[in-house]
Amino acid sequence: MRRIKISKNDESTIHKHLKALIIEVDKFRVAFPQTETDRWVVLETERPPALERDCMIFVRPKNVHHKGRNPCFLCTVQKEERMTTSYNLKMLRVNLTEKSIKTEILDEALAKKFIGGRGLGTKILYDEGVAKVDALSPANKLVFINGPLTGCNVPTGGRYMVVTKSPLTGMIASSNSGGVWGARLKYAGYDAVIVEGKADAPVYLSIHDEKVELLPAGDLWGKESTNVEEILKEKHGKEASVLNIGPAGEQMFELACIMNEADRAAGRSGVGAVMGSKLLKAIVCSSTRTVIEPFDKEKLREVVTESLRKIRENGVTGQGLPTYGTAVLVNIVNNIGSFPTRNWQESYFADADKTSGETLKEKYLVKQGYCHRCPIGCGRVINMNGKTVGGPEYEPIWAYGANCGVEDLEAINEANYWCNELGLDAIGAPTTIAAAMELYQKGYLKEEDCDGVPLVWGSAKAIVEWTKHMGYGDNKLGRLMASGSYRLCDHYGVPEFSMSVKKQEMPAYDARGIQGIGITYATSNRGGCHVRGYMISPEVLGLPEPLNRLATEGKATWTKIFQDLTAVIDSSGMCLFTSFALGAPDYAALLNAATGTNYDVEGVLKVGERIYNIERLFNKEAGMVAGDDTLPKRILEEPIPSGPSKGEISKLNITLPQYYEVRGWVDAFPTEATLKRLDLL
Ligand code: SF4
Repeated sequence: MRRIKISKNDESTIHKHLKALIIEVDKFRVAFPQTETDRWVVLETERPPALERDCMIFVRPKNVHHKGRNPCFLCTVQKEERMTTSYNLKMLRVNLTEKSIKTEILDEALAKKFIGGRGLGTKILYDEGVAKVDALSPANKLVFINGPLTGCNVPTGGRYMVVTKSPLTGMIASSNSGGVWGARLKYAGYDAVIVEGKADAPVYLSIHDEKVELLPAGDLWGKESTNVEEILKEKHGKEASVLNIGPAGEQMFELACIMNEADRAAGRSGVGAVMGSKLLKAIVCSSTRTVIEPFDKEKLREVVTESLRKIRENGVTGQGLPTYGTAVLVNIVNNIGSFPTRNWQESYFADADKTSGETLKEKYLVKQGYCHRCPIGCGRVINMNGKTVGGPEYEPIWAYGANCGVEDLEAINEANYWCNELGLDAIGAPTTIAAAMELYQKGYLKEEDCDGVPLVWGSAKAIVEWTKHMGYGDNKLGRLMASGSYRLCDHYGVPEFSMSVKKQEMPAYDARGIQGIGITYATSNRGGCHVRGYMISPEVLGLPEPLNRLATEGKATWTKIFQDLTAVIDSSGMCLFTSFALGAPDYAALLNAATGTNYDVEGVLKVGERIYNIERLFNKEAGMVAGDDTLPKRILEEPIPSGPSKGEISKLNITLPQYYEVRGWVDAFPTEATLKRLDLL
């Protein structure tokens, strides 16, 4: 590509200079205004001519004859430079109601202001008024969006985000997934796909470079994830990557997720239900291109070499995750007594080791699993009754294990497998089973409600069978459970049994024994979530430096920094797990080399802060109120009853006001001064 700085010519100038040099290009676009009079124009052409300063050029797309003003235009060359950036600066907009597919230009300045992925996806939806719509109506939109590092030759640079309004929380949803789908989309030439409206019959979207089409999916409807993938790969080639929903998404269950590569998931906040509401079963993506040219190849190579060194030398990314997967945390978190057990009634599980990453490796591991360009390989490929499948991560091991009182790792593997096949959130589904077990324990649910499989603590059969009932929606209780623990417990008049924030279930760390993660949960824009500011890193793993997990001092500031940095990583296209080894200077350097930005540490964190605040603005428009930043009553009022963290309780009453002050928020929302500082007004 060539980037040419031109002077602005008005219509009268164009008519005076019709003899100007004509450049035929595949495409051109005005990238963004520079000053009142100058613009950059991007020319996409295989063999651009050499251009002199001050020469007049007449830009004309190939095979288009100039009639009137558009699409040709005249300009004066002021400066030319070769432009490469890891953005494609192109998006697809697919309207399922109108059956239309359009290519749109992505404004480069806007992209850089929000980086991409989670940040840019939220900005697009906020500007298009999605916050106020019904999440399961055709007016909601789904944005599948890459970061500028997706598809680049950077460690873990293969991730994409699904951004939409969540049917689970009624707020912003942004779910991240690995595998290779994001990279395929990037290679095909697009930074994002925006899906709008609703089809009149099941469809899937096929993208192969510039050939993009909507195709019937009636024969795929009702099928499980890996089956859909097999059928579509058969049809579109084995190099194609398939993203799809299972039966849970088709039935618009609030716990439905989106799967790709069999066991990679955009797992949280019910993004699969939105896809189901549009009757969109899958998106297949393939490309002829296999590389992305960065802004500065040499610099990027240098930064990547250094990043890889840090990842290899770090104990977590170089040893713990590759050897034992994320389940390396089972014994670590249980040993500090912050491993929620039996729906958070306790926080130490005596049989935890039977479900640990070490045990998984010893008994079931076949090999490591890797996402695109990942040097870590935290994925687990396991043997499940003679079948090779994707294994469970730490969260589902905990949620099906300790949180349901189950020590049977074989059953956990199987339940996790069904989550993937049926397209269920592997945190939300098992934690809802745990809530149902507490309802059963306390008499709200009766044996006759349970279809022959009582929801008793420790039942290996229950975790497998109730996952299937939730995913297939084949009985009344299963369908209610698939709407999440909050709606389930509320139905029985005890919403406080739902261990959720903003109606989304919390993950595997007890906020009573780890104070900082409690702030992350309470203030997460997408509801109960650990990967919006992973305070476990300093509070439990001692990275980048050890913090006292039980103290409150400084935790508000640390949480804000972690949240802002996470927003950067999620928007860049890299995996959050790299942050055990890398810091803000590394991400800034990678982004600068790939896109041509000039971020320093302060600058890149400010973009992260902007992203966190635009999400908050989305939530405000969606109806969020100040009291939504809180934790379940049990965490605030019931001390941990036993184990190494016995007696501990959340001190959110202390940390939350501190957090709002650090953020520049009043009553949970940014002040005008904060919005101005972040260039959001
Ligand atoms: S660390 Fe794990 S989740 Fe992250 S990119 Fe690598 S394999 Fe995927």
